[in-house]
Amino acid sequence: MCLKRIDIQGFKSFGDRVRLELHPGLSVIVGPNGSGKSNISDAISWCLGEQRASHLRGSRMEDVIFAGSDKRKPVSLAEVTLTLDNGAKNFPLPYEEVAITRRLYRSGESEFLINKVPCRLKDIQALFMDTGLGRGAYSLIGQGKVDEILNSRPEERRSVIEEAAGIVKYRHRKEEALRK
Ligand code: ATP
Ligand code: MG
Repeated sequence: MCLKRIDIQGFKSFGDRVRLELHPGLSVIVGPNGSGKSNISDAISWCLGEQRASHLRGSRMEDVIFAGSDKRKPVSLAEVTLTLDNGAKNFPLPYEEVAITRRLYRSGESEFLINKVPCRLKDIQALFMDTGLGRGAYSLIGQGKVDEILNSRPEERRSVIEEAAGIVKYRHRKEEALRK
């Protein structure tokens, strides 16, 4: 599974539309302090459904919307789209590419889309379950994450292993069935 493209507009320091094309293999983002490198990884987590502002280094979710700079006025909408290759049909969708979009308006209204079709956050979470790519999954290793895993309680460590083994969706479905 390969992340091919990231489109960012109005998210954190990205007031203008920015497109990052990623190619198979290793991509490295370099830049001076404060130039927006971590904001790109925040954009990925946010688009994958991160709901905790603190995990995006903010205090409220609205903090992700571009707040303006010396040269540019604030905007009222943050939008991030991640385009993933689906040639190997890792996602059960009949498309060569899967594009996940998240939008947040200053009014508080938010939207999620899969290939431009509105969906629920739950649909995005279900799509990424067991892929290792979902919110909080091991594909995004932030500063301190390795220590956190090593120092975590056995149950927490087990959840990382379950995600890697691809059994989370079955446990999730079982829990849902038992609740009904
Ligand atoms: P470092 O090398 O220090 O880790 P970095 O390249 O990772 O730096 P980021 O943390 O991604 O930098 O970006 C920080 C910048 O983003 C700051 O200048 C901050 O003002 C800006 N920023 C964050 N949120 C917003 C926002 N909502 N609107 C405008 N600018 C923002
Ligand atoms: Mg940084």
